Amino acid sequence: MIPLRESFRDIPLYSPPKRPCRVDLSDNTNLFGVPPAAERVLRESRPESLSRYPRGYAPDLRNVLASRLGVGVGCVTTGCGSDDVLDSALRAFLEPGEVLAFQDPTFVMMPLFAKVNGLKTAPVPLRADFDVDPEALLATGAKVIYLCSPNNPTGTPLSRAAVEHVVEKAPGIVIIDEAYVEFSSAPDFMDLARTRQNVLVTRTFSKAYGLAGMRVGWGVGSLALIAEVEKARGPYKLTTLAESMAVAVLREDPMWVEVQVVEARRNREHLRAELMSMGLSPLPSEGNFLMVPMPDALGVAQRMRERDVNVRAFQGLTGVGDALRIGSGPWPMLEAALTALRESLR
Ligand code: PMP
Repeated sequence: MIPLRESFRDIPLYSPPKRPCRVDLSDNTNLFGVPPAAERVLRESRPESLSRYPRGYAPDLRNVLASRLGVGVGCVTTGCGSDDVLDSALRAFLEPGEVLAFQDPTFVMMPLFAKVNGLKTAPVPLRADFDVDPEALLATGAKVIYLCSPNNPTGTPLSRAAVEHVVEKAPGIVIIDEAYVEFSSAPDFMDLARTRQNVLVTRTFSKAYGLAGMRVGWGVGSLALIAEVEKARGPYKLTTLAESMAVAVLREDPMWVEVQVVEARRNREHLRAELMSMGLSPLPSEGNFLMVPMPDALGVAQRMRERDVNVRAFQGLTGVGDALRIGSGPWPMLEAALTALRESLR
């Protein structure tokens, strides 16, 4: 018998039901392909570099991001995906046993990261208009509050007024996860990361930037805040290749990213109109995906997988119920999803 950690007994591995499908719209990644600069870096990379460690804290990427944002390099952190930035932030600011508050529903990994870090959780339901309820979040007294805008899985953005209210009154840190911000026409919250001591905004190269397989995420906050996150993160979280690709895409491919973003947004709205004409009620979305409430979403997703289309199903979401989350991408993929969905609804 190995000595188990009691709080780890019922931690599930992250494994949404999936199988290789011709059309996979289940993870909100960029379905238009790989940014050309990343392919160039891969072609030109020298195998000798593989046997050496990368630099500890991704200085090149931090520098490029910091200069674009007009902040000091010490105000930017990076990680093995924004997952890693979020997880490190929880470790940095909460002792085991302390409370993480978050909007509900939201990114499914947050309760899991909380558990792995020995934290208690305080989920706070979103209001009927899918904005956060600032007073309810603040009433938890949590030292860290997690917000997500546009939110996964609902696609809905948070209002400026509600977020500012939380940031102003929070007793501790407010994390604002902006993994889908590039797809949003709502204003972002990066200015709060620049100007407030207690705000961490996180972003990722996994969605609009088309580098999910390289695992690159980043965060911005005050110097004092980021210093703590970097301690919790530890060195070597970005590979040499991942850092080079992220820097190259930022420098060389802004137009590539923009074109895919515009297309993903246009196709999202087209898909929404088609779903509405089927009598469904997809939520308005600012992400690269749509949330579509429907009974027995798990069964529907299963039948869609049998038709070679993978979408993500959710069961009993707070304020939503059962729902499918369908990623946006090239229109032929969305057409295939619509056909599979029509055949799968009973
Ligand atoms: N935040 C949100 C809201 C997400 O949906 C995801 C990915 N599903 C992440 C963070 C993590 O992304 P990554 O680790 O690939 O940067």
